Amino acid sequence: MYFYRTVSVVPQLPEKIRRLQQLAYNLWFSWQPQAQQLFSRINHTLWEQVKHNPVLFLLSVSQEELERAAGNDDYLAQYERVMKDLDNYLSNETWFECQYHELQDRVIAYFSAEFGVHESHPTYSGGLGLLAGDHCKSASDLGLPFVGVGLLYKNGYFTQHINRDGWQEALYPFLNFYQMPVVPVTNPDGSELIIPVDLPGRQVYLKVWRMQVGRVQIYFLDADVPGNNPEDRALTGQLYGGDRETRISQEILLGIGGVKALRQMGIHPCAWHINEGHPAFLLIERLREMVREGVELNTAMEAVRANTLFTTHTPVPAGHDVFSAEMIDRYFSYLYSQLHLDRESFLHLGWDEAGGQFNMTLLALRLSSYCNGVSRLHGRVTREMFQRFYPGIPLEEVPISSVTNGVHNQTWLAPEMQQLFDRYLASGWRENSCIMETWVRVSDIPVQELWETHNKLKEKMIQTARANIREQRLHNQEPAQRIREVENYLDPEVLTIGFARRFATYKRANLLLRDRERLARLVSDPVQPVQFIFAGKSHPADRPGQELIKQIFDLTQQEPFKGRIVLLENYDIGLARRLLQGVDVWLNTPRRPLEASGTSGQKAAVNGVLNCSVLDGWWPEAYNGENGFAIGENRAYPDEESQDRDDCYSLYALLEETIIPLYYDQDEAGVPRAWVETMKRSLETIPPVFSTERMVKEYCERFYVSAIRRNSHFTRNNYAVAAQLHAYKQQVLEKWPGVAITGIKAGDVKTLNIGEQLKLEANVTLGGLTPTEVSVEVAYGGVDEGGMYNIRHNAMTMIEQLPDGSYRYAAALDLPQGTYGYTVRVRPYHPDLAHIFEIPLVTWAPNF
Ligand SMILES: *Cc1c(COP(=O)(O)O)cnc(C)c1O
Repeated sequence: MYFYRTVSVVPQLPEKIRRLQQLAYNLWFSWQPQAQQLFSRINHTLWEQVKHNPVLFLLSVSQEELERAAGNDDYLAQYERVMKDLDNYLSNETWFECQYHELQDRVIAYFSAEFGVHESHPTYSGGLGLLAGDHCKSASDLGLPFVGVGLLYKNGYFTQHINRDGWQEALYPFLNFYQMPVVPVTNPDGSELIIPVDLPGRQVYLKVWRMQVGRVQIYFLDADVPGNNPEDRALTGQLYGGDRETRISQEILLGIGGVKALRQMGIHPCAWHINEGHPAFLLIERLREMVREGVELNTAMEAVRANTLFTTHTPVPAGHDVFSAEMIDRYFSYLYSQLHLDRESFLHLGWDEAGGQFNMTLLALRLSSYCNGVSRLHGRVTREMFQRFYPGIPLEEVPISSVTNGVHNQTWLAPEMQQLFDRYLASGWRENSCIMETWVRVSDIPVQELWETHNKLKEKMIQTARANIREQRLHNQEPAQRIREVENYLDPEVLTIGFARRFATYKRANLLLRDRERLARLVSDPVQPVQFIFAGKSHPADRPGQELIKQIFDLTQQEPFKGRIVLLENYDIGLARRLLQGVDVWLNTPRRPLEASGTSGQKAAVNGVLNCSVLDGWWPEAYNGENGFAIGENRAYPDEESQDRDDCYSLYALLEETIIPLYYDQDEAGVPRAWVETMKRSLETIPPVFSTERMVKEYCERFYVSAIRRNSHFTRNNYAVAAQLHAYKQQVLEKWPGVAITGIKAGDVKTLNIGEQLKLEANVTLGGLTPTEVSVEVAYGGVDEGGMYNIRHNAMTMIEQLPDGSYRYAAALDLPQGTYGYTVRVRPYHPDLAHIFEIPLVTWAPNF
């Protein structure tokens, strides 16, 4: 063993283009084609070689090339324009400032195990990370006072290589963070900020790195520092790598280390957003902080809950992160006494009776005021999953809502498409991209021009695909003939269908392969052939996922599929962009309802690429019959086999009867007019709605702002409201068994004329609670076989207290035309509850 230091000799930026340095370290460049050109124009080959990493680019480029650029007037003009755009971007008044001027200094913290911001920063595995990255970009665009917190993985996720036999090989390159767009956070004295975190029997030290994404910062924690032993230095090695011990350690570093890091930097968030269960230990650290300040634990729990939002992404119980009681003991027992909790009560914070384990999702759910799924369908599936904790409460009123995911349109839009939009949409289309009217003008784009632009992107995509396969074969040292042959793969004239995503089995990459003969007929049709492009990584521990890759690889080696079905390696943000921008159809075949949202199809749509998808995740909300294609039906199936069979059949029928004929119905100029019209319908309806701009506004308006306000309210006067709310909850839980509806007077009306009121009276005993502590209400709504739906509620008025201590309530309801179910119920009422069923108690009227 020997020690060494490193030193880098780097070119110096000429004064005239000095600010390229700033640009390289602000991920704003990642959604600005003009800014990216400032690098690629200096040396295009190098820019591709460094995978669009501007920091590495500036370390690698030659001094002469920099000088040449600085002497080129045309280059300088573009440089000035881009820098002015950046300055404007950073200083212009934002949506948030206009809407919530008084809240500008109230920080919203967003914790996530993954962030997918750019291909030069591989701290993501798939949709969850991409969503986090796009969320930050829109938070920046909208001017939210926002910080992200994540981990910096020394080996990233992994680099995927497909070997000669079609098996995935996972490579773990060492990332040099000094060559990435992040900088170490320093203390006022210039030393590096280091955060200690307790793990069993030792402390682990974390270095904090900062990434600038437009106006917002993401802080990344890194355990690879000299003060840690070698095993601990590897804790932040791989995203989702290692065993359960690694996982719990990573989650402690993220959740607990993240809070400590923010505090050290003087950042005190007023709202906390937990993206998926991994960071949920942040709740424990926040509790510990308050208890140490002398706040009573129960009060602290109310205060922590008051301003916390949890977004869940996992539609199956098996997908949730769980730890055994023994592990929790080992990692947290030192905290039990600090929190004034016994072991049972601590475990109870995340305990799942059903699974007999500590469940991160439940921990987050129990200590958050707000919880949401990521599409309407996923919201419902999540309510079903957790309804067991809300006995007696109608499914639709279980306090878990949904915010449908979106994408950062500008990040995913091809520059060629942007130019087209510049010509035909109103000038502020970028800033107004979540307004429907912006996209109405798509109808003005000449069909021919839209088609030509799309085809240019398709050509580029095919070049990228061929280069990818050539690279695979070179790497595998295959014969020259095999490498040359790639030039004939894929035909730009042929209908091209893309399928790229994580190779998790539920995504059913092999759905098409269920009927090989039919697939063979499709690809070898002499007049109307189809070609397919597949790509995606599979988690290294997911053997079935790797078998899927192998299965598809084998197919690509056989006639007649060779050159018509291809498998690309190392699907990442860069490759995704190319594919999504250049295929004709983006295929999505998850086993409904397992795709919580999915977002890649939204990226395709903004580029005019048509979606062909199972009605899962976001697609049922977007599909309107004329803006793409739907596989199968919007319903559940009795078993997987019949679901797979039906969906496969439906997909083939859709291809043969609708998609292929529509694509090949071309006029004499070769333009498929009806197809391009469908592209337009897709452009008009999808980008305005399924963007992170709309999504982040929704998070802001529905959750962040009220979380911030609740935070002030709950903490005021030494947490008075939090303490009162806790006392109220105790009281209600104790006395609820005495609450009953003892009589209802509803007459026996079956029909009312419009304008006539429905009159009701109820007698209620409150078991020692007072009328101000409950809501006695008429609940009414539509009726179907499952009971009432679209349930609304109207408070009844307390008329008098009866001699026996019970209360008489009355209501007169104006109902619009229609047929309704109605009943009376009592539930807890307190003005500081975030949701009517935050306390899962309700008493319904007996039969009346
Ligand atoms: C958008 C994206 C994803 C997520 O797409 P899904 O539709 O959820 O599969 C995964 N990986 C990359 C590289 C992406 O860009």
